[in-house]
This record gives sequence, C-alpha cells and structure tokens, in this order.
Amino acid sequence: MKVLILGSGGREHALAWAVARSARVSEVVCAPGNGGMVQTGRCVPVDLKDLTAMVHLAEAEQPALTVVGPELPLSLGIVDAINERGLRVFGPTRAAAMLETSKGFAKRFLQRHNIPTANYAICATSAEVEKAVEIFHPPIVVKADGLAAGKGVIICDSRHTAAEAAQGLFSGALLGQSEHQVVIEEFLEGDEVSFLCISDGKHVTPLVPSQDHKRIGEGDTGPNTGGMGVYSTDTLLEPAMSEWILRHIAEPTVRGMAEEETPFTGVLYCGLMMTARGPQVLEFNARFGDPETQAILVRLETDLVDALEACIDGRLADTELRWAPGASACVVASSAGYPSSYKTGVPIAGLGAAAQVPGVQIFHAGTAQVGGQLLTAGGRVLGVTAAADSLEEALARAYQAMAEVHFEGMYYRRDIGRRAFRSAK
Ligand code: AMP
Repeated sequence: MKVLILGSGGREHALAWAVARSARVSEVVCAPGNGGMVQTGRCVPVDLKDLTAMVHLAEAEQPALTVVGPELPLSLGIVDAINERGLRVFGPTRAAAMLETSKGFAKRFLQRHNIPTANYAICATSAEVEKAVEIFHPPIVVKADGLAAGKGVIICDSRHTAAEAAQGLFSGALLGQSEHQVVIEEFLEGDEVSFLCISDGKHVTPLVPSQDHKRIGEGDTGPNTGGMGVYSTDTLLEPAMSEWILRHIAEPTVRGMAEEETPFTGVLYCGLMMTARGPQVLEFNARFGDPETQAILVRLETDLVDALEACIDGRLADTELRWAPGASACVVASSAGYPSSYKTGVPIAGLGAAAQVPGVQIFHAGTAQVGGQLLTAGGRVLGVTAAADSLEEALARAYQAMAEVHFEGMYYRRDIGRRAFRSAK
C-alpha cells in the first residue's frame, strides 16, 4: 500500500521511517518532506497552509492511508476534506482538533467533564483581564487561545505584566496575529510529562510515556523552543499513575468528545503537570508530538500502520501495541541563534559515522538536499535518537552519535534525560 505523510519535521521523518518498516507498505510519499525523508520515500512539494493544494495532492496520489503530522492542516480541516473524497486518513476532524486549536474550548471542555486542570478565566477584553488577574496569585499564566507554534504561553510574575501580556495578545503585538480571547491561568508547579495515546473515538491506547525538554539552555534555562530533546523510559510513570491518567484524563476526554458528537480519532497528546494535587492537564495536542514521536516510535515493535488503521476502523480495542522494554532518547541539534533568528543553508557532515552507532536513528527536521549536498534548513536541524536497555545506554549512544555530527553553529543540550536520575542522586 501507498502511505502519504503530510509534514516536514523530525516527527514526520520518524512517522515515515516507522510506516516504511511495515511489511504492508510498498511506497511512502512525503509532502513536503525534508532532506532526510528523501531516503525513506518520494518527497513532493506542498504548502501545509493550503488546504486545496493538500487535497489535490491526495486526490492525485490516491494513497491507501494519509497520516497528518502537524497541527496546522488539522486546524484547516484536512481530515474532513480527505474523508469527503473517500480516502482514508489518520487524524482528528477539524471539530475534534479544537482540543488543541482553541485553548478556551479545551479549558471549558475539561471543566464540563470534571477533568483536572489549572483554574482559569477566559477573557475577551482587557477589562475582563484586569478583573480576572485579581483572583490569581502571581506567577500568572497568560495563554493565547489559538495555535501559536509554542509561543502563545507567557508566565508573568505580576498582575500588571499579566495584563500587559494579554493586551499584547489582543493587539497582535506578541504573536503577529490578534487573539479574540485569552486564557488566564493559575501557575502549576511540578514535573511535566507527555502522555500520548491513540484513539479510535471510543477506545484509548497509551503510547510509552516521554518527557520533553522545552527550554533552549541546559538546566532548563532560557527561552522555550519546539523541544530540544526527549526521553522515554518504562519507569517515567509508575504503572498505577499511568492507569490513573488513563482512567481520569484520557478516557474521559475521548468519552466526552463522543458524547458531544465530535468523536476524537487520532493522537490525543495530554501535556500534564504532575502537581502535589495530582496530574493536571496543561494542554492537549491533537497529533503526535515533536520530538516525543522520535523517542516513542523507536521503541514500537508492532506495525504502526496496523495501529493507525485500527483507529480509523474503530478496532483499537482488539489491537495490541508492543514496545521494546528499556528506554530511548532523542537529542536535538539546532542552528545557532534558535529559537530566535538563525542562518540556513549550512552544510552538515558526519551523519554516516553517526548512523553506525548501534541503536541509533537520525531523524531530520530542518534539512534540505540541495545539489547533492545536505544543508540546514531550519532551527531544529536533526533529532539524534537511540534506543537501548537502559536510559544511561540510550543517552550514551545518542551523544556518541551526536559527537560525529558537525555543522557550523551546531548546538545541542548535553543534559537531556538528566532529570530522570535526579531522585537517584
Ligand atoms: P502549553 O502550550 O499550554 O503546554 O504551555 C507551554 C508550556 O508552558 C508548558 O509546557 C509549561 O511548561 C508551561 N505552562 C503552561 N501552562 C502552565 C501552568 N498553568 N503552570 C505552569 N506552567 C505552565
């Protein structure tokens, strides 16, 4: 069968790699893909902001399955549009994707269904914000309602700065687009965990847990990024805690969406804060995370295509996902200056030697093949990913491979996964 992957990042490279391993898959088409995905499939250009162009591509290619990587096509209704043309696609409809595309919708939904989340107020005017901030103690979290590519959350140390941040979101000064509503939220303390599940609209199957590293600097310092690295271990969440999250967060979410007649099919990514009063939902994503997917899929032993098709067909309850025991880690190499401005078009060397390290997969994010040469093409350039029996070994392999990779201005955090050893020290 032919599978079409929409997207161009490390997540999509990992999806293409996992899909290509399926015995049932004869062809992978990546749109638009990147400099690494050309090894896995045929890359064809497409604008991920252009719904009509993506639908035309699907109609022309007639894939047996389309997998949507990023949130933007989901927010445009790509799943509805491809379904309407009688083609099979993995991902939520536009209405179900609102769990990610509107934070206001997600917060109200969580409250309606008694799913634990931070206290909040949804405000449509600065006057409403002024009133709302009075009831929260600083730090106060201010969030854009809509998609903001990781830039829509501002943690403010006073009521005054919270009101200013909200004003910046309303006016468009902060994100370049003006928000019609903002979420004011209580600040939660704890460790963050990404709990990803797949769902067929009724049944929920968790993937292995993982922990992202959002800040650019070691020791979790500096500005937020799309994610500088991630690790996954069996011990990241106690089985009883995983079960609790499944029963009290993931399953009620899928049940609630079905009750509201917007059944959720796809990846339900629960971004959680493990607080003293238990796990609380920080946000939902309606798709695979990046770079979580890289660390998760290198541990998947069963066929990814079978699992995705089981979601589409409502057969997930009868489908087993098996995982390699142990651990995995993904360390991101970024361009100098990221997450602010950075240079592209810089030659990349050493990937051949890096790929020789046992257990290592190198997923490309911002790369391009130009005239037979591999060049940087984005802020996050590569995700060097390794699986092993233990986290120590997975990290050692990822960093050994990373030491072989070179490009001018290359930066990576040397403390990915370090948190896992904190309690052991
Ligand atoms: P979100 O896009 O909602 O996940 O927010 C991005 C990041 O902001 C999260 O990964 C957290 O690190 C932080 N964050 C969001 N909401 C809160 C909160 N209520 N309390 C503390 N940190 C938060």
